[in-house]
Amino acid sequence: MNVETPEPAGPLLEVADLSMHFPVREGVLRRARRFNRAVDGVSFAIASGETLGLVGESGCGKSTLGRCVARLHAPTDGSINFQGEEITRLRGGRLRPLRRHIQMVFQDPMESLNARHNVGDILREPLVVQRVGDRASRELRVRELLDIVGLPARSAQRYPFEFSGGQRQRIGIARAIALKPRLVICDEPVSALDVSIQSQILNLLNDLQREFRLSYLFIAHDLAVVKHTSDRIAVMYLGKIVETGDGESIYRAPRHPYTKSLISAIPVPDPHQRARREVLWGDVPSPIDPPSGCAFHPRCPMATARCRVETPALRAVRSAPQRVACHLVD
Ligand code: SF4
Repeated sequence: MNVETPEPAGPLLEVADLSMHFPVREGVLRRARRFNRAVDGVSFAIASGETLGLVGESGCGKSTLGRCVARLHAPTDGSINFQGEEITRLRGGRLRPLRRHIQMVFQDPMESLNARHNVGDILREPLVVQRVGDRASRELRVRELLDIVGLPARSAQRYPFEFSGGQRQRIGIARAIALKPRLVICDEPVSALDVSIQSQILNLLNDLQREFRLSYLFIAHDLAVVKHTSDRIAVMYLGKIVETGDGESIYRAPRHPYTKSLISAIPVPDPHQRARREVLWGDVPSPIDPPSGCAFHPRCPMATARCRVETPALRAVRSAPQRVACHLVD
């Protein structure tokens, strides 16, 4: 069963100025006068074998961005280039070959796994849909996938409800790698799991990345989780990336006030460090009616008059290796 494709020359994935604005239909005529600007002009790239961690609070647009990249949504604007091919406007049957190479792992495997199918059927399905192999080779692949994710071969006859949360996530991961994809979008893959199980799943994802040279877009609200899995981190706030850089620099010396708040919210055992926490007040504003200027200004302890009227661009800064969208940096 051969589903290999040659290694691309440039970045595996390049996203440029991507936007996803959902129409808000209101009134008797259900006219769309307003839009939910879930993703608003986002750019980033992911190299082969690399993990980009995408972090931010619930409602900041991370999952929508992941779904746009997987082409589960048709973006409103911008471009997605994957393996050198423009995939932004692919529709219908033309999306099918792409499904081999970009897969998703979801937060709640119970919702994403078909409860009426046994695990064998669930793992076989992507091979059948993509017409990969024959009956015998698919059976072999199902056994191989279960072995790769650390489940016994007899799991194939059982149903999702018979497994624990961690085991179900292993099944979700097995399904995601069934077609030997290049890019896996992990959307909060451990946030529904007990802390003790989280590290097992993260270790499994790391092992799979090493063995199969996978690239990950790793989406999480928890910066501590992202730090342990990601080569680079992008911090998202209200549809935009506000800081990006290598994981170590962002974690050690964050520059954007929002990133600082997220990092200071990570629990630490040292009570003196706890006292220096920068508390993030309030909720993420609605992306239907975002604040003017810098969207973070209503919650930012450093906001000035300029912040209320001028949107800061994401730019390289002199004093750090990160790119930051804040008027006060440098
Ligand atoms: Fe805060 Fe202003 Fe920087 Fe926005 S631009 S993060 S409001 S200081």
